[in-house]
Amino acid sequence: MIKGIKASDGIAIGRAFLLKEIKIEIIKETSFTIEDELKRLENAKEKGLTALDQLKQKTLETVGESESEVFEAHKQLLADPVMAKEIETLINTQVSSEYAFSTVIDKYIEMFKNLDNAYMKERALDLKDIKTRLLKILAGVENDEQEIHEDAIIVTFDLTPSETVNLDRSKTIGFITEIGGETSHSAIIARTLNIPAVVGVGNKIQEINQMDTIILDGINGEIHINPTEDLIAKFKSKKQALEKANSLLNRYKNIDSITLDGKVIEIAGNIAGVEDVDAVLEATGDGIGLFRSEFLYMNRSELPTEEEQFTAYKTVLEKMNPRPVTIRTMDIGGDKNLDYLNLEPEMNPFLGYRAIRICLKEQELFKTQLRALLRASFFGKLRIMFPMIASLEEILEAKEILYSVQEELKRDNIPVSGDIQVGIMIEVPAAAIMADVLAEEVDFFSIGTNDLIQYTTAVDRMNNTIAELYSPYHPAFIRLIKQVIDAGHNAGIEVGMCGNVAGDKEFIPLLLNLGLDELSMSPNMILKARSIVNTHRRSTADEFMTCKTKKDVENLLKAGH
Ligand code: PEP
Ligand code: MG
Repeated sequence: MIKGIKASDGIAIGRAFLLKEIKIEIIKETSFTIEDELKRLENAKEKGLTALDQLKQKTLETVGESESEVFEAHKQLLADPVMAKEIETLINTQVSSEYAFSTVIDKYIEMFKNLDNAYMKERALDLKDIKTRLLKILAGVENDEQEIHEDAIIVTFDLTPSETVNLDRSKTIGFITEIGGETSHSAIIARTLNIPAVVGVGNKIQEINQMDTIILDGINGEIHINPTEDLIAKFKSKKQALEKANSLLNRYKNIDSITLDGKVIEIAGNIAGVEDVDAVLEATGDGIGLFRSEFLYMNRSELPTEEEQFTAYKTVLEKMNPRPVTIRTMDIGGDKNLDYLNLEPEMNPFLGYRAIRICLKEQELFKTQLRALLRASFFGKLRIMFPMIASLEEILEAKEILYSVQEELKRDNIPVSGDIQVGIMIEVPAAAIMADVLAEEVDFFSIGTNDLIQYTTAVDRMNNTIAELYSPYHPAFIRLIKQVIDAGHNAGIEVGMCGNVAGDKEFIPLLLNLGLDELSMSPNMILKARSIVNTHRRSTADEFMTCKTKKDVENLLKAGH
């Protein structure tokens, strides 16, 4: 058995499909003239750009607009003048195009890989994708799509965007990747497709061979290679029980989310774009508790316009109306970078120029987003949420900018809803500690556990080496969220949670006992959460305040407190 990071729930039993890396032999020497080599490269690039256009179109038709933008970014990388100059300089030393191209690209891949920043690692993957594409064109290997078999569990280094689009989704039942964490690109895709996945397996992945029988246990993050018949039978019945439980959950559709003692809870969905709304509607979520709007800014080559943003927000608000939609203003930085903003590389991006910090400095960018949000507010029930708030000053400044934009719109006779709530994410310990003060200035809090855990316990959420230390069971974290909930309630505002812990079935009873009003999670967890809420009678959470260790917290949760 090998272990990785659980990225998407469920059990899959199938056969390994190793996405082959096409190895193309690169010979440095060339029999062509320098001029001919330059021409070969130019032709290959042109073909590459055409192929990328086609892929972009295909993605636009089959997946969605924001996903298709990644290929626009690939086009830009392929046409990058700085890299082109370096390649040309090398070709001028009488080497082959293949050699010059891969030498230069490899240099950039290494550079990105070593930046120890998840977003940059993803960019290394993009470059790898481009490199393979061009080398294949130069070698004349063009149509090499691998024919996938039934019940395939894809085993790969990481899923590149091209692989994702070309994947036959009707035959893919699971993913295993060598790199990545719970919040990496492939993990998000797996959850969106509702396919079990284990990521970040490391070099143990080499133990898996093509067509091996695999049990993929996405619940525990475990992979069994060529298991015994007994084990297969055991997992088959586990899988059946799981499927049955999932179908039983359907009876929690279209009903209120309410505890046995009568407290109405809002169980909402987290989304990254318009295309995720249907999953929330399908699960009959009570609203959207987190729209990560920064995804509108990613995988593209320039800032989204006010009009593009307005259309996206309006669509989501209309589709969800009259249910509330919480749109978080963009949270770029940390693990989510934007090449086109030309931000300086940072030693500690999670502690750096990120989210509201960027918005308060680059006010035009912020105002464009706020204009789009306010214009869209007319079409549904909008809640605006500011991320990464660490001080009262930041709230006051952000609100001042918001109100100035609102005034501008009023002056231009553009309708804006009179009922917009403004809230903040509580994900920085300083904000949690000052929650009583901050509550005076906002309509709601939403606790961002993904960041709050990493900042409270000083454990980088993207660092696999210390993944075991990253834990919601830490008593300091439990005390801190209690403090936030109490402070919010004392000031008469609603307190929700939108980090991963909100959808964790082990934690939901405790979160309810602590008094949370709203839980927002991956859409595929909504019904399970409602089944827990609707069968739970709230009691106190006092025992948890005396816990000294993670084990103490875990034991209390296991004992059903
Ligand atoms: C969080 O930090 O818990 C959160 C919901 O935001 P993100 O994961 O996008 O940082
Ligand atoms: Mg966060």
